[in-house]
Amino acid sequence: MASTVNESIETRLFINGKFRASSSNKTFEVVYPYTKEVVAQVQEADIQDVEDAVTAANAAFPAWRDMGTDKRGAYMRKLSQLILESNNELAKLETLSTGRPISQFVDASLAAEFFGYFAGAGWTTQGTASLNTPDHLNLTVKQPYGVVALIIPWNFPLIMFAGKLAPALAAGNTVVLKSSEKAPLTSLYVAKLIEKAGFPPGVINIISGFGNPTGAALASHMAVRCISFTGSTATGQKIQAAAANSNMKHVHMELGGKSPAIIFEDADLETAAAQTQFGIQFNSGQVCAANSRIYVHESVAEQFIKLFREKFSAVRMGDPLDPTTSHGPQIDILQYNKIEEYLAIGEKDGTLTLGGDADDGLFVRPTIFEDVAEDSRLMQEEAFGPVVAINTFSTETEAIEKANNSEFGLYAAVFTKDLDRVVRLAKALDAGTVGVNCTSPTSAKDTAFGGFKMSGNGREGLLYSLDNFLETKSILIKT
Ligand code: NAD
Repeated sequence: MASTVNESIETRLFINGKFRASSSNKTFEVVYPYTKEVVAQVQEADIQDVEDAVTAANAAFPAWRDMGTDKRGAYMRKLSQLILESNNELAKLETLSTGRPISQFVDASLAAEFFGYFAGAGWTTQGTASLNTPDHLNLTVKQPYGVVALIIPWNFPLIMFAGKLAPALAAGNTVVLKSSEKAPLTSLYVAKLIEKAGFPPGVINIISGFGNPTGAALASHMAVRCISFTGSTATGQKIQAAAANSNMKHVHMELGGKSPAIIFEDADLETAAAQTQFGIQFNSGQVCAANSRIYVHESVAEQFIKLFREKFSAVRMGDPLDPTTSHGPQIDILQYNKIEEYLAIGEKDGTLTLGGDADDGLFVRPTIFEDVAEDSRLMQEEAFGPVVAINTFSTETEAIEKANNSEFGLYAAVFTKDLDRVVRLAKALDAGTVGVNCTSPTSAKDTAFGGFKMSGNGREGLLYSLDNFLETKSILIKT
């Protein structure tokens, strides 16, 4: 299927309400992973552009803060509607930039929902009041930080964009958002919708560029008071250090994972196989919460692995723009090479029982390793591909110990029908989210989503994200 590139793709920076070239006029390529065709040459923001974006956001802040929740919400509702109306364009741009099958795209409606929900959620940013101290009325209130920086990854660009931008704006902040250098096109497309929705200039600035210099300049900028980051743990550490070494800006981190799924002997094995197959195969395994480690009770291991293997090997590889494709290529050669390295580690530290080979089209076939050494890098590090390690256990204690034997703690799944066991496991597992009989990659709509340990700090979700963008202030009034 041809991936005809639309001439109207926006490639410039969006600063102070206007599209413009970068100061250096430097560009970088966005490549369709399936054909390796160059889809767009995108303007790369340099230090001067970061400066201009932060200056614009700073200037726009007082009026945006003081405008009030209803007026801010009206702009956001308009944007929500425009995103919904652009579903097809956004689906195509996202597929062209990331190679994720278009059949998996539901992201425009989720993004629209974020803006729709947060349009009214500003009213919930309330504090407390007390008359307990003699002769005082004491108030504790919430207020925006000012200029916040949002830095997002490439694996779900539109959802990450909306999931951070909507609450940041609703809280009354102004924003500089840097998209991933691998997938900047949907952010730029929405910038056009932001212009159409009539947001005041400078409230939202969208820049494209690499970690260095663009992201690093934002992370250390003295006028940025808060940074919300989603990406790898290694980058999170750099951003945290840059924040500490500049102005101690508030930092919120959603980082990597090495999520376990535990399958007990009483589990519905059909459900467990279907859920864990989805968990590791969706978006070709390029999901933060992907269950890349499966622990199955030894008494049902053979049965479970047979079911899992059937489902995992039944995927349809092909052109991601073809709606019948269910398994796309990895996003680029860097990601592909990284996975190949883990395939070699798996062959050394375990037994390959499915897949294992990758071909030159950036596709990695669904891959299973069994009996992998627990201290193997394959068990401890994020491969970010359709590669799963399956080990067995004999007791509940052993399963918990193995699952928790990780520096990550994003998501843990448990498959069982025993309610007492569910309660014990939910308490014992070191994970921001415990899925019982499910591996949903995100629970951000009606619960909090985020990580324990090196998977991050802070939480995102409809009811939780606002807090990442609000300062708490106490006001003491002596009577
Ligand atoms: P990455 O860390 O390489 O890049 C993420 C973003 O950080 C990009 O925009 C990049 O340009 C920027 N960046 C890189 N170096 C920087 C620096 N020194 N200063 C400032 N910004 C910098 O991650 P990625 O490869 O884009 O995304 C995949 C990772 O994201 C995986 O580890 C995945 O688990 C994680 N992720 C986590 C969640 C979550 O909710 N926990 C969700 C999606 C992805």
